[in-house]
Amino acid sequence: MAFELPKLNYSFDALEPYIDAKTMEIHYGKHHNGYTNNLNNAISGTELENKSIEEILKNLDLNNMALRNNAGGFFNHNLFWEIMGPNCGGNPTGEIAEAINSNFDSFENFKDTFKKSGATRFGSGWAWLCVHKEGKLEICSTPNQDNPLMKNGCGGNPILCLDVWEHAYYLNYQNRRPDYIEAFFNLINWEEVNNKYLNCR
Ligand code: MN
Repeated sequence: MAFELPKLNYSFDALEPYIDAKTMEIHYGKHHNGYTNNLNNAISGTELENKSIEEILKNLDLNNMALRNNAGGFFNHNLFWEIMGPNCGGNPTGEIAEAINSNFDSFENFKDTFKKSGATRFGSGWAWLCVHKEGKLEICSTPNQDNPLMKNGCGGNPILCLDVWEHAYYLNYQNRRPDYIEAFFNLINWEEVNNKYLNCR
């Protein structure tokens, strides 16, 4: 059974002006689609064909670069599209809001730490918010298409992520990654992040 590129819940231009339609079209239609196809090629005819993407990520051999890059690329972008949306942003609500306050002292402090995590990742990669056992939250960063679920990851379950590859922002922001990161906070779908938090606590 092959993995499928998930449908977006919004149109390519829905995230403007923070993420432009052309970037969305290329990012989703070319990059994410490419990871999906390459993941399917990497697992074709192997026992991994019947595994979930989470199982594949948790158990993969980090020396298997085709699987590592494309399983990561598939999962990471799935989550990224899910936790953004139009008419979102603002302050978190629900239990995740309380959890952020108790783990990071304040939403502002969380925001600063998360922004720094994305801004200081050298080259390509991701910033993450992960949930550990008993609801403890952790911000981490991974290079390339690595993912917190991998053996080299933080061991938590990711509930929020930010793509800081240049392909995610270069058309609109060029080298201004910090501006893109700031704009991302207008797109976070906190209701969805809260759902994910409640599901994996
Ligand atoms: Mn990407």
